[in-house]
Amino acid sequence: MASEISTEDAIVSGTVSVLLPLALPRPYDYKVPAGVQVRPGSYVIVPLGPQEVIGVVWGEGTGEVGHNRLRPVTEVLDVPPMPEVLRRFVDWVASYTVSPPGSVLRLAIRAPGALEPPRMRTAYRLGAARPQRMTPARARAVEVAEDGCARTVRELAEEAGVSDGVVRGLVDAGALLPVDIPTEAPFPDPNPDMPGVALSPEQAEAASLLRGHVEARRFAAVLLDGVTGSGKTEVYFEAVAAALVQGKQVLILLPEIALTSQFLDRFERRFGCRPAEWHSGLSTRERRRVWRAVAEGRAPVVVGARSALFLPFSDLGLIVVDEEHDAAFKQEDGVAYHARDMAVVRASLGQFPIVLSSATPSLETAVNAEQGRYARVRLEARHGVAELPDVTAIDMRADPPERGRWLSPVLVREIQKALEAGEQSMLFLNRRGYAPLTLCRTCGHRIECPQCSAWLVEHRFRRELVCHHCGYSAPVPKACPSCGAEDALVACGPGVERIAEEVAELFPQARATIVSSDNLRGPAAHEEVFAAIEAREVDIVIGTQIVAKGHHFPWLTVVGVIDADLGLENGDLRAGERTFQLLQQVAGRAGRAERPGRVFLQSFMPEHGVMRALVSGRRDEFLAREAAARERVGLPPFGRLVGVVVSAPDAALAQKVAREMSRRVPRTEDVSVLGPAPAPLALLRGRTRLRFLVKAGRNVNIQSFVRAWLEDMKIPNAVRVSVDVDPYSFM
Ligand code: ADP
Ligand code: ZN
Repeated sequence: MASEISTEDAIVSGTVSVLLPLALPRPYDYKVPAGVQVRPGSYVIVPLGPQEVIGVVWGEGTGEVGHNRLRPVTEVLDVPPMPEVLRRFVDWVASYTVSPPGSVLRLAIRAPGALEPPRMRTAYRLGAARPQRMTPARARAVEVAEDGCARTVRELAEEAGVSDGVVRGLVDAGALLPVDIPTEAPFPDPNPDMPGVALSPEQAEAASLLRGHVEARRFAAVLLDGVTGSGKTEVYFEAVAAALVQGKQVLILLPEIALTSQFLDRFERRFGCRPAEWHSGLSTRERRRVWRAVAEGRAPVVVGARSALFLPFSDLGLIVVDEEHDAAFKQEDGVAYHARDMAVVRASLGQFPIVLSSATPSLETAVNAEQGRYARVRLEARHGVAELPDVTAIDMRADPPERGRWLSPVLVREIQKALEAGEQSMLFLNRRGYAPLTLCRTCGHRIECPQCSAWLVEHRFRRELVCHHCGYSAPVPKACPSCGAEDALVACGPGVERIAEEVAELFPQARATIVSSDNLRGPAAHEEVFAAIEAREVDIVIGTQIVAKGHHFPWLTVVGVIDADLGLENGDLRAGERTFQLLQQVAGRAGRAERPGRVFLQSFMPEHGVMRALVSGRRDEFLAREAAARERVGLPPFGRLVGVVVSAPDAALAQKVAREMSRRVPRTEDVSVLGPAPAPLALLRGRTRLRFLVKAGRNVNIQSFVRAWLEDMKIPNAVRVSVDVDPYSFM
């Protein structure tokens, strides 16, 4: 087992404090029964009221409650203790996010059944004795077993080509000896010494810098900054190999939707086997297997979505965050944390390097690199002959589509050309469904969700109006729900379904497909459609952001962005940055192989800074301008923000609590509290929401301020107060 028990984790006797995976303010004390051995990090079962709960020993007892009044630990579980570094990480994240430590602990033990003893099965290996009676069948079985491996009766029988009875006979004769082995298959060891692809000089240089950081076995944050298609994955695989050579575990974090079998196949080509995976689609059994293997040091590499950060690695030595700019790393519900930022903390606590990889780094990371806190490794060229695509903005005022259509004539011509050349096109619109708004022509009524302040989105294939916030759905009505006029409802604006309809009319011969979360349920459906695109069974892809990430389609040459202005509409502080990142990623899908790519941005404001940066390719200039603008007004990363949302099923109650909170704002010069104001989504799932925004300078401990503010507030049960440090969503 790789985990070493440090001297700090010596056996604790007398009383222990146990952290429970619940939203409690602190760990609780328990008695350690005589003869029971627990250490800091031990997983234990303890009583809590009438229940039994699993918790983790956090340290010695505090002594606050008299020993004779403490209840004893019920049981110590047979699991490697939670490493000290993970316990410190849990405390760190709790403190940073202003969450109860138990809520963070829950993230670390969220693998049902993983803490139970592993189920065993009986296997057999060859002993020293040979049976007195030898038959040809028995001889074959003995021959197979001579390699010393333990096999179940079935496995041995199958491999030797004999019946189960023959194997049982050998067991009865004492020639095969029983051993208990875990039912769960182990993870194979990735082989760091397999030959990778031949790296270009630029790539080799970058890889050697990354290797150097891994070999130094110290904390360092490194931005791997390379244009789309420059081979960042191949390069950071070399850092992974270096960590494996040291016998360390590696975590590769990806945005969930980038975690495809395309990626896993690439990993397998480089390292000879697939890594362990961690994401929301795993079965309970798989979760248990991965969690256990990670804890026992038997899973050398984990590729996972953000929650993989809380796995109990016994000896982690490298984290890679791919697409580090991606907003999917921000968890919004429950403990609101940013997995990229917390991954940097995890690496620093563990004293090992972290690689942040992106073609469009977040402003936070870019500024850290600019100011020297992070190292930067650049890749300037696309791999091989591939060139970066040519980006053109189409001025929709000068070159508008026909009435009732959404594709401008320029874009239509380009798609036509691609079709004739046997190449693929992709139309990108980050809007699911058919139309984002349904309006009554007679009275002007707009159909809204009854539980949210949001319009219902028409999904024509399903013949329903759907709320994208809460999932509410209803059939499309015949008459206006407000004035009763018949056949007066009109669909306004396009979603991907509507674009697909237009494509079918314009190019009836072309094979078109929609790629959006509504059309693809589950990972298998994703794999299927991406495989079809790769195999050129599709001519025109119409997709939401699912298609923006990571995919490599060599025949895709034309990318059309239907509404490049879309992300700029909600004017939050990152609107420009995020629009740039998303569209740059989408653009990066074009021309990734021999055939040059062409990208067309349909925009009503082609003179906007974001469009100009995309067309000119001057990313760093754009980031510098964004940074300067934020610095002027003290917004992140030059200042700190915390969002606080108060919500309740009853509007008056939410307002009452918010007013009370407002009265209790501690007075200091360094921090200002804006609000309460109705949130942009003032109603969500039937709850009224009010928002505060706490704003402070970079050097202010904004968390202590928020804790002091909220500490003594009595919050009625029906009211929720959620705290979001470094908010990304301002809805
Ligand atoms: P990025 O992550 O920077 O977008 P990738 O690592 O996905 O780039 O590389 C783009 C494509 O080029 C992939 O198909 C990859 O396998 C290929 N590639 C990159 N570098 C090399 C190389 N040195 N030799 C062969 N293929 C390469
Ligand atoms: Zn709703």
